[in-house]
Amino acid sequence: MDPNVPYEPDWALATLAIRAGHERTAEQEHAEPIFPTSSFVYGSAAEAAAKFAGEEPGNIYSRFTNPTVRTFERRLAALEGGERCVATSSGMAAILSTALALLKAGDEIVASRSLFGSTVSLFDKYLGKLGITTRYVELSDLDAWEAAMTPATRLLFAETPSNPLSEVVDIAALAEIAHRQDALLAIDNCFLTPALQQPLALGADLVIHSATKYLDGQGRAIGGAVVGRDRELEEVFGVVRTCGPCLSPFNAWIFTKGLETLALRMRAHCDNARALAEWLEAHPAVARVHYSGLESHPQHALAARQQQGFGAVLGFEVKGSGAEGSRQAAWSVIDATRLLSITGNLGDVKSTITHPATTTHGRLSAEQKAAAGITEGLIRVAVGLEAFEDIRGDLARGLDALA
Ligand SMILES: *Cc1c(COP(=O)(O)O)cnc(C)c1O
Repeated sequence: MDPNVPYEPDWALATLAIRAGHERTAEQEHAEPIFPTSSFVYGSAAEAAAKFAGEEPGNIYSRFTNPTVRTFERRLAALEGGERCVATSSGMAAILSTALALLKAGDEIVASRSLFGSTVSLFDKYLGKLGITTRYVELSDLDAWEAAMTPATRLLFAETPSNPLSEVVDIAALAEIAHRQDALLAIDNCFLTPALQQPLALGADLVIHSATKYLDGQGRAIGGAVVGRDRELEEVFGVVRTCGPCLSPFNAWIFTKGLETLALRMRAHCDNARALAEWLEAHPAVARVHYSGLESHPQHALAARQQQGFGAVLGFEVKGSGAEGSRQAAWSVIDATRLLSITGNLGDVKSTITHPATTTHGRLSAEQKAAAGITEGLIRVAVGLEAFEDIRGDLARGLDALA
C-alpha cells in the first residue's frame, strides 16, 4: 500500500470501503472528485522528462494514470487485502488483461466448467488462437483439478460460488494444488465481493472483478478490476497501459461511491436471498432450490466456513413433466412477474429473473447443459433490495398457479 494514502489497514471493511484510497487535493474536498482529463501538465521540460522516464511519480496520461481511477483501485485493493489493483474497462477486460500479462503460447489454464459464458469464449476462441489451451473441470472436485494439470499449467481459474447453481470450491485447498507446481490461482469474486469473501487471504493469487455487478450495485456502468501482489499486477498494469482496456474516470467514480455502501448492500442482498430460498424450498411447485445458504445444499458447511455470507444469486427448479413441460412451467413463472426484471444481468438493487437454458446458457449443447446441471425447469433469480414481501408475491403469482 502507498504510505501517502491516509488510511489505516486494520480498519474494518465497512470503514475501508468509505475511507480508503482518496488522497485529498489542495481544494480540501470532502467527497471524492472526478478528474475527466486525458492528459496532465508539467511545470518544466525537465519535470515532464522525469515523469515520462518513471523517475518521478505522477500523472502522465489517463490510459494508465488517472487520480479518480487510482482512488477506486486503492479502495478495492484495501477491501480485498491485495498489494495492488488495476482497474479495467470491463470484467472481461480484467480477465483478458490478466491472461495477456501472465500467459504465453504453450501455457495451459485449468478452469471450472461453470464459468461466465464470455469467459469460456475468451479462453477457447481468443486465447486458443494465441496457443493457450484451457481444460475444464467440475468446480468442487479437487481431484479433477489436480488430474487436469500438466507441467504447462500456469493458471487455475474459478468462480465460486457458481452461477446459477451456487456450487462452491475450497479456495485454500485449490491454492495449495496450484502452488505445488507454481501455477497461479485466480478467483472471479464477482458474486460475493470482498464484503463476503476474501480469496487472497485464503491463498488465491489474483482476484478478478466485474465491477459492473455488485461493486456498482445499481446497474449503471461497465468496469472491472484485477487485485493481487505487486509482482503480477505490475504485468497486468503493463497490458492495460500499452493495450488500452482502461477504466474511464467517470465509471471509476461511480464504482468508488458504490463501494461505500457495499457491506450494507451485500448484507441486505443476502437477507432477501436467504428468505426467498427458504420460501421457495417449501413451495409445492418447486422441485429443488440451489443456494449455498440452505442447509440442504451439499456444500453448505464449506460455504459457511469460507464465506461471510451466501450471496444473492439462486437457482430453483419448477416441477414439470419432461423437458418441454418443465420449460413451459419455468416460462410461465417468469412471464407472471410484474416486478422482477426479465434480464440476464445481476448485482443490481433491482431483482432480475432469467431462464438459463434458453438465455445465458443457451449456446451449450444438450450434453453440456446436462453436465452443467442447467435443466429446462431451472430459473435463476438475482435477488435485489426491493421489499421481500413484494419479491415473494411476484414469484408466488406464477408458482401458485402451477401448484
Ligand atoms: C458479468 C461477469 C463477468 C464479465 O464482466 P463484464 O463487466 O460484463 O465484462 C465476468 N465474470 C462474472 C462472474 C460475471 O458475472
